Amino acid sequence: MIAILLGPPGAGKGTQAKRLEEEHGIKQLSTGDMLRAAVARGSRVGKLAREAMEAGDLVSDQIVIQIIAERITEPDCANGFLLDGFPRTVAQAGALDAMLEDIGKRLDAVVEIAVPEDILVKRISGRISCADCGAVYNEYFDPPKEEGRCDRCGGTNLVRRKDDNPETVRQRLVAYREQTAPLLPYYDNKGLLKRVDGTQPIDKVAHDIDRALGVVGLAPPDC
Ligand code: ADP
Ligand code: AMP
Repeated sequence: MIAILLGPPGAGKGTQAKRLEEEHGIKQLSTGDMLRAAVARGSRVGKLAREAMEAGDLVSDQIVIQIIAERITEPDCANGFLLDGFPRTVAQAGALDAMLEDIGKRLDAVVEIAVPEDILVKRISGRISCADCGAVYNEYFDPPKEEGRCDRCGGTNLVRRKDDNPETVRQRLVAYREQTAPLLPYYDNKGLLKRVDGTQPIDKVAHDIDRALGVVGLAPPDC
């Protein structure tokens, strides 16, 4: 399956993508995670992306399109993948269409996780993630079972994202409204868009996404 999770920052894309990967074996491709790793490594891409990310702006289409074009041809994507945070502009969506056509594949579904802005701001202000394994928590809505320790890997390196501060969040919401929201009619016109109410508890959102993707009750391929 090839699918996209679409929605504003804080909607729950990463939370649901990681769960889908664990429960259903659908590979998560998060451009945000890839770019943060590039910044941390200090690579050429990281140096080019850093300033825009810290300002809450989008990184250039050229950079993210190249990252995804290379990544989707790797062997672990052969059975499909779930895009989290890509595409974010109509130009990126057009490039994705062309990439998939080149490799003889097609997009199966686009799921919008819809959440109003006041809830997003509260969620982002409470987001913490495990620097060791990438698991995402929320100090208000979804804390780890033991304070300061990751449920998934047991690590104690729980951190806040540098761009999860009030000014940057405001700019990220503007970027979503102006540059990413036009993808909703883009995919709706292709008959691919499904909408899920992302204000519900995590398990309920998970259930609705599984139904939208048609993976209810499906175990990972190698189980
Ligand atoms: P995104 O990848 O869309 O930016 P995340 O998956 O990182 O969003 O989620 C943002 C924050 O909101 C995280 O702290 C996460 O734990 C929390 N969260 C995700 N889904 C829900 C939900 N349905 N209800 C409450 N909090 C949620
Ligand atoms: P995310 O982890 O998805 O919230 O992304 C964090 C930041 O990475 C964004 O605010 C952008 O600066 C950058 N980014 C991630 N994905 C993209 C993309 N597809 N296009 C442009 N910038 C991106």
